[in-house]
Amino acid sequence: MVSRESVNEVFLPDKEDCLEYLREQRWPDEVTCPHCRSADTIKKGTTRKDAQRYRCQDCESIFNDLTGTVFAEHQLTIPEMFHIIRGMEEHTTNGISYLCSCIILYRECNTLMMSS
Ligand SMILES: [Zn+2]
Repeated sequence: MVSRESVNEVFLPDKEDCLEYLREQRWPDEVTCPHCRSADTIKKGTTRKDAQRYRCQDCESIFNDLTGTVFAEHQLTIPEMFHIIRGMEEHTTNGISYLCSCIILYRECNTLMMSS
């Protein structure tokens, strides 16, 4: 019998690769606080999904790689969600993938909320 772990090894992307990709898309230059936009942040452990956790030195809020994204509240693992999204990649808008759309949408919503 094939175990779930061995199936995952074959079909699912590496969790750290997924998180690294997410960080590169979300914070191409430097990690910024989703609450006050400050770049004065420090790493502070990881979540149970192994996302990097940060502490904002300005507003003292705690956030992580997934805060405010579609991945934050989901029960599926990050590799499972990336696998599903990869299956949706053929549905692109103006050449932008669904995954990038999710991340860009998050950034735009966050910017609107910050400027209002
Ligand atoms: Zn902050």
